[in-house]
Amino acid sequence: MKLLTKFRPGERVYKIDYRIKEALTECPECEGARWVMLKTKEYPCPACHGTGKLVLTKHYRWEVNPKSHKIIGISARVAIDDPEELVTRLKNVITAVSYTLSFDPDKEWSEHSLFLRMDSATLECERLNNELDRQEAQREKYEKQEARAA
Ligand SMILES: [Zn+2]
Repeated sequence: MKLLTKFRPGERVYKIDYRIKEALTECPECEGARWVMLKTKEYPCPACHGTGKLVLTKHYRWEVNPKSHKIIGISARVAIDDPEELVTRLKNVITAVSYTLSFDPDKEWSEHSLFLRMDSATLECERLNNELDRQEAQREKYEKQEARAA
């Protein structure tokens, strides 16, 4: 069988990652000091767990990793599309192709998260982030409707 892949071994690719972006605010309990007095002893603030900050908002964002990485391995999972008709119609279907990159040989990455060009990776991040924004707006709208109904 012939395996068609999006990338070839040795090519350099840009990876996109899913990251949590948090907006922080100073903890109102300890006023950012991270410790609180109980009787005569100081303890880590229970409101902020000793960090001095509270999470105001949490956002998930797709970002391009600015460093490109070399592809050092390709693996494909292949399945038979119809096991009942093996004799009459033997057809292999590639269900997933994943790539090993030089910087972390123990991990595999889906081809959806890798790009040959930085600008294609950036465009895909914009598309995915717009989709996240759309979902968030929809969730907020839904929550407002729920609040009104209650
Ligand atoms: Zn605190």
